[in-house]
Amino acid sequence: MAVIGVTGGIGSGKSTFSKMLADHLSARLFDADSAARELLESDPAVREKITAELFAEAYTPDGKPDRAAIRRLVFQDPAAKARLESILHPRIRERWTQLAAECRQNATPLVVEIPLLFETGAERFFDRIATVACSHETQLARTAARSLPRDEAESIIRSQIPLERKTTLAYFVVWNDGSLTNLENQASELAKILQKPLS
Ligand code: ATP
Repeated sequence: MAVIGVTGGIGSGKSTFSKMLADHLSARLFDADSAARELLESDPAVREKITAELFAEAYTPDGKPDRAAIRRLVFQDPAAKARLESILHPRIRERWTQLAAECRQNATPLVVEIPLLFETGAERFFDRIATVACSHETQLARTAARSLPRDEAESIIRSQIPLERKTTLAYFVVWNDGSLTNLENQASELAKILQKPLS
């Protein structure tokens, strides 16, 4: 059974689609963003490294990550962003590669939602990769609806491989500018393809 990578751009609908696809496939689901949040919240080694090497104000006095502060800091300082990623990314990869090995052993399908799949050179771990894409306007509208300031959204979009390029790098492209029903239909169709033996 396949290990499927789902990627895309900020607000393109990766999470929504990954859940739909995993449901249709009865697959395990790994979400790299949730793993990053969990590492920030509950891994003492991560907290220690970030506060000692990067920025003490990334955590509140009671030890909780201050996500807004972290976002601001990395927004202002690309070098800090790179260092934060160098702390988190190897740990996240270790988690999902371990899960992928388990799933392969148990013949269980796995959907891995990983926003920076191409940026982190993770292509080789997947049997198939799907890019979930939408127009730039839709990305901005979706991120604005989540109260992300427009300049920060634009900056995140600029820091990633362009979504158009991600569509050319993926095996499957899911166009998510339409309704949720439309997205659900695409998840259902893709699941049918993935349920057949892959060559
Ligand atoms: P991020 O990178 O920011 O985590 P994402 O690519 O995972 O975003 P989602 O979280 O799936 O994107 O979607 C962003 C928002 O847009 C969510 O509120 C989701 O419900 C909504 N959304 C996604 N696709 C559609 C759609 N086709 N129609 C309406 N709303 C949608």
